[in-house]
Amino acid sequence: MNSHDNCIFCKIVAGQIPSRKVYEDDDMMAFHDIHPKAPVHFLLIPKSHVDSLAECGPAEGEVLARMMLKVPELARAAGCGNGFRTVINTGPDGGQEVYHLHVHVLGGPRNQWKVSLP
Ligand code: AMP
Ligand code: ZN
Repeated sequence: MNSHDNCIFCKIVAGQIPSRKVYEDDDMMAFHDIHPKAPVHFLLIPKSHVDSLAECGPAEGEVLARMMLKVPELARAAGCGNGFRTVINTGPDGGQEVYHLHVHVLGGPRNQWKVSLP
């Protein structure tokens, strides 16, 4: 596995930083966001480090596809039967703060969200 020493999400994958785990398999991991912006807010990440969606190439295609297909399953299991939002912030203008690719999954009643998005 391509682990980056100073990457907070690599440390979560390695169990060096605690997280509230939602899901894990050989390729990916999901855990609750530490500052939730909606009643349901978890992050889905590839275990293998890649900085952002902009850095992905063909080598990441398979895990990206698997992650996207896993999102609705995890969202349903988290109680988002009425829908959910999937967000990937990319780069400075995309508002990315943690440079280990992650998919935000947000759900729950809309009037309880702390963000308004397009
Ligand atoms: P982004 O702006 O897309 O890079 O979002 C990074 C997200 O990671 C933010 O929503 C943070 O609240 C979340 N976050 C940062 N550190 C942790 C952590 N240790 N555990 C869970 N979520 C975190
Ligand atoms: Zn990382």
